[in-house]
Amino acid sequence: DGQSQKLEKAKITLNDCLACSGCITSAESVLVSQQSHGELCKLLALNKVAAAHQQKLVVVSVSPQSRASLAARCKLGLLETAQKLTTFLKSVHYVFDTTFSRNFSLLESQQEFVRRFHRQAEDKKALPMLASACPGWICYAEKTHGSFIIPHISTTKSPQQVMGSLVKGFFAEQQHLPPDRIYHVTVMPCYDKKLEASRPDFFNQEYQTRDVDCVITTGEVLKLLEQEGVSLADVDPAPLDSIGHGGGGSGGYLEHIFRHAALELFGIHVGSIHLKPLKNKDFQEVTLERDGEVLLQFALAYGFRNIQNLVQKLKRGKCPYHYVEVMACPSGCLNGGGQIKLEGESSKEELQQLERLYESLKAEIPEENQAVRELYQHWLGGWGSERALEVLHTRYHAVERANSALNIKW
Ligand code: SF4
Repeated sequence: DGQSQKLEKAKITLNDCLACSGCITSAESVLVSQQSHGELCKLLALNKVAAAHQQKLVVVSVSPQSRASLAARCKLGLLETAQKLTTFLKSVHYVFDTTFSRNFSLLESQQEFVRRFHRQAEDKKALPMLASACPGWICYAEKTHGSFIIPHISTTKSPQQVMGSLVKGFFAEQQHLPPDRIYHVTVMPCYDKKLEASRPDFFNQEYQTRDVDCVITTGEVLKLLEQEGVSLADVDPAPLDSIGHGGGGSGGYLEHIFRHAALELFGIHVGSIHLKPLKNKDFQEVTLERDGEVLLQFALAYGFRNIQNLVQKLKRGKCPYHYVEVMACPSGCLNGGGQIKLEGESSKEELQQLERLYESLKAEIPEENQAVRELYQHWLGGWGSERALEVLHTRYHAVERANSALNIKW
């Protein structure tokens, strides 16, 4: 009516946060502040004065998206960046690459999809299966659509949390150390990964330790470099560490699961996959057809606008997909809120540059990675074993909003 009216002050707690990376850097946020590059520096300083039996073995696992962001900023190649970063971080003991743990996430996701496909007749929520690698999306799903959407979400752990299980499980055993004597840091493209690492599901009650103790963003690594007055370009390269014998890049979840399901369920070998953009380039789909019949229909939905459309389709019972790769950030993790902003270039060019670098990673077939096969065989008791399910999968929790103001629940 043209009158102005003073609105009540809005109160926002951490439980209202959808972890979109927009403002989660706030100093008040306890969960996030427990995980910063300052914490890592404190730990390294403590390690220097601690008695030998109290020192922690420090392991850093770097995501490929963070490497791409640092490479673009420092105008270096991806491998060179990884090798120089290893030298810079050598005050810690081991530097790993999370593309290794991503292999496990991909393999578990593909098997989970086939299991769900077979039980779709008796379980209406088996499909579509929705990806679980993005904690921003998981946080949104748990807080806003709770028990309705949770059964659709893949139980496979994200590459960060698989790495947590590998480091505090397999690697700890190899080193003859209890998990709490290892301090595990990951370098990730977003703040949401800090919230993910803080979930009670990833806390080891017996040893009172988290699978990932501290998450730092790519931007925080740059800060560390600047604090030390180091330019990555001037650092000598060092050989890369590996948990097993290999590592390497890997494709996206959608492509990988699509290929596997086509072969396993219908005996069809899929060559290159052509995604068809729908409303925008962050909502694309691909179908597998035989004699005009649609056998598989997959989509990717990036960014909250597309996620909301997807959820609406699901609620109306009009979602035609068998699988959807859901990511909270438009353009996915390369565009995460914790990545380095390139100076003097528009964000579009910056993103294209990052995409080119990231795509230059050699795609690897997880099934063919010898180290992955050995770990499945000797540590996890084989494909699809009880132990693999226990170690590589997780659970989700609907958050009750009514009493969310004081309790931080997941
Ligand atoms: Fe983080 Fe990637 Fe999800 Fe963005 S899309 S919130 S960077 S995990």
